[in-house]
Amino acid sequence: MTESTSANAPATDAERRVGLIVVSHSRALALAAVTLAGEMLHGRPLTIEVAAGLDDTTFGTDAVSIMQAIERADSPAGVVVLMDLGSAVLSAELALDLLQDSSIRDRVTLSPAPLVEGLIVAAVAAAGGASREEVAAEARNAVMGKAAHLSTPEPGVAPEPEDQAQAAIVGVFPVANPHGLHARPAARLVSEVRALDASVQLRNLTTGAGPVPAASLSRVATLTALHGHEVEVRATGPQAQEAVEHVLALAKRRFDEPPEQVSAPPAPPRPTPSRSGPLAASPGIAVGPVRRLAAEPVDPALHPAGEPAQEWRRVLASVAAVRREIEHVRVLTERELGPDQASIFDAHLSLLTDTELLGDVKARIRPGTGAVAAWAGSLAEVERQWAELPDPYLRERAADVRAVGEQVLQALTGQPARRMTGEGVLVASDLTPAETAGLDLALVTGVVLAQGSPTSHAAILARARDIPVVVAAGPEVLGIPEGRTILLDGATGALHLDPAPELIEEYQSRAAEAAEQRVRQVALADHPAVSRDGTRILVAANLGSVSDARAALAAGADGAGLVRTEFLFLDRTAAPDINEQQDQYDSIAEAMEGRRITLRTLDVGGDKPLPYLPMPPEANPFLGQRGIRLSLRNRDLLRDQMAAICHTARHSPTSIMLPMVSTPDELIEARQVLVEAAGSSGLPAGLHIGTMIEVPSAALKIEALLPYVDFVSIGTNDLTQYTLAAERGNGAVAALSDALDPGVLRLIDHVCRAASGRVDVAVCGEAASDELAIPILVGLGVRELSVSPPAVARVKAAIRQLDVEHCASLAGQALTLPGATDVRKLVLATMAETQGDAESGTRTGSGVATG
Ligand code: PEP
Ligand code: MG
Repeated sequence: MTESTSANAPATDAERRVGLIVVSHSRALALAAVTLAGEMLHGRPLTIEVAAGLDDTTFGTDAVSIMQAIERADSPAGVVVLMDLGSAVLSAELALDLLQDSSIRDRVTLSPAPLVEGLIVAAVAAAGGASREEVAAEARNAVMGKAAHLSTPEPGVAPEPEDQAQAAIVGVFPVANPHGLHARPAARLVSEVRALDASVQLRNLTTGAGPVPAASLSRVATLTALHGHEVEVRATGPQAQEAVEHVLALAKRRFDEPPEQVSAPPAPPRPTPSRSGPLAASPGIAVGPVRRLAAEPVDPALHPAGEPAQEWRRVLASVAAVRREIEHVRVLTERELGPDQASIFDAHLSLLTDTELLGDVKARIRPGTGAVAAWAGSLAEVERQWAELPDPYLRERAADVRAVGEQVLQALTGQPARRMTGEGVLVASDLTPAETAGLDLALVTGVVLAQGSPTSHAAILARARDIPVVVAAGPEVLGIPEGRTILLDGATGALHLDPAPELIEEYQSRAAEAAEQRVRQVALADHPAVSRDGTRILVAANLGSVSDARAALAAGADGAGLVRTEFLFLDRTAAPDINEQQDQYDSIAEAMEGRRITLRTLDVGGDKPLPYLPMPPEANPFLGQRGIRLSLRNRDLLRDQMAAICHTARHSPTSIMLPMVSTPDELIEARQVLVEAAGSSGLPAGLHIGTMIEVPSAALKIEALLPYVDFVSIGTNDLTQYTLAAERGNGAVAALSDALDPGVLRLIDHVCRAASGRVDVAVCGEAASDELAIPILVGLGVRELSVSPPAVARVKAAIRQLDVEHCASLAGQALTLPGATDVRKLVLATMAETQGDAESGTRTGSGVATG
């Protein structure tokens, strides 16, 4: 995000000069401006840092990147920051607040100069050895030459600098939007105004409300400017004229509200409809009243205040984190639902960059009143103002304020934002991994998700917690009123609304049968899983917490085949240190009582965000910086994690596993970091090093990866999504995303053949617990299956029914079939021959049935 550019010679010369930072919404623009400035320097040394764009192509500014750029450019001579439009200024101000070392702050000047002209004259001045004050003054006057050249300004336009503070440009517009200046048009107005170098005030001439600063969304809303009201715009400053003209033109265009939204209040974004119908995602039968997730109130009294400066920094960091989250959702919404729906988030983003609101929060922080209390206080005040507005439509917008405010409170407290409204079946659009991990088992009997898929991380966590789940049920389930009775079967995907008593009875007797079968399986769970013809298959467990490890041991797991370490610290806003990580890994090893544990390094990205590892929004996060890619870009974090793993490996059988590997170079680099992390005592003797196979390229060139590993574990969840180009969390393509597709099976076959006799092959994706997949995987040569703890006994029981030679021929046939459905039919038919039961194992339910 931040790029260092030097029009320079030796760094020491540059350090004696004032450093420059270019903050722009566009990285391309910033880099071009730096190149242009470099032309003027004729080789003289100068440090110019760029903090621009959210990535190479996404517009935006980020306070953390600016802060890091300032830290890099800092020297005794100081730093001058040049910015482009509105929120760039705000981000730069936030960056100053974020600086840990306050002495740096004293050496920084934020310049109001225009970016390109300002940068060029500032660069020339700084390279010539000018002081920070001189460089800033040069930049400020950068447009004077151009203004003089273009002759006398028109009356009222671009007044001479000394007159700027006094000259006011005034205009009046009638509000043409049917719902008045509500959140969306107001957000548009605010962002236009913030982009200009002018101070703009608004007054409602019809009601006399105001004046209020036009750059503050929360204040503009209090004008209650309804349809037909006249609003006065009064601007001062260098771009006063443009500001007034802009606002009047914008008002004429009804603030660019799309026609359907001009005539109707904005609707919340609708989830993409599911094509495939409800899908089974976690076995079990549940019946109960429909429940929802609702915001959990935060009690500021439970969050003690730290030192005020520290508390303010916490506010800024949390606001920045939520902004990034919303920007990310905005990118996705725009991609999936178009720009109009995405613009809903503009009002949310405006609130988070609202200097009035942030100023109020800052003013409230004092000894005894910390970040949580101050934020909650300011939010309550803004909400109160909005809720008191006479217009009912505007009043409803207070909900937007609350939603964004609560997201920040969640970031500040680490508390899940939403909790279930009561005991019963949770019906929701989708769940984040953190929400799934936080579901209260005393309340939730089952979960129905409108979106999602069986291999989404929400489904995986629900399976680990033995919660019956049906996913991809479609948006219509969100319309079911709370309290209506719903029945779900998480093994088949069946849903019944208001089930008749006989139907409930039938399902309950099925559940009782399943429970009896389970008792029989659990009784044998501690014994090894050996096929009828004598092949031992290890059945390990996938873990996300120490309590999962205890459950896994109790369930008879032969080890932990996958510890998703990213789940251990899901709700943390700061990275855990080495000691905290060691404690967790040691506790897992201890809970597994000497069985081998496989600790996977952080696999963040895709649908697994991590608050302490912020990432710029990506258009295709599953194809972006995930897993090992992200870890190698954050080597300190990776080294710390590897050091903690080495510690555990010195006293317990431990393996380290690398996620999302696609090239041997990644393995080589990760091994270098591991060697650094192990330190002078060297790699622990019993440490095994392995790679996940989740990317088709890694499967296809497995021979190139094998020299660097002791084992491989196939992640069928990701391997399937990448092979079939079907995103694992997307309910609309969930039916496509089946690991039994022969395309996926051929990749697994290739891996098993290449690894045979060299290293062990495990499968730790969800296919490992799919009863129709198990014979095929074993037939292809997989000798370890790692599954959620509740599935261990069932999977061991399934293996005991198998004949490996027969499985090999079944797998051979499966590879030649056209699709996953054909493979499922083949396995079902074979099972029917041996067990006389062809009914179990259906994957897709029949829709939401009533009665
Ligand atoms: C997989 O991709 O199959 C896997 C086990 O990793 P995760 O589900 O955590 O992405
Ligand atoms: Mg994966």
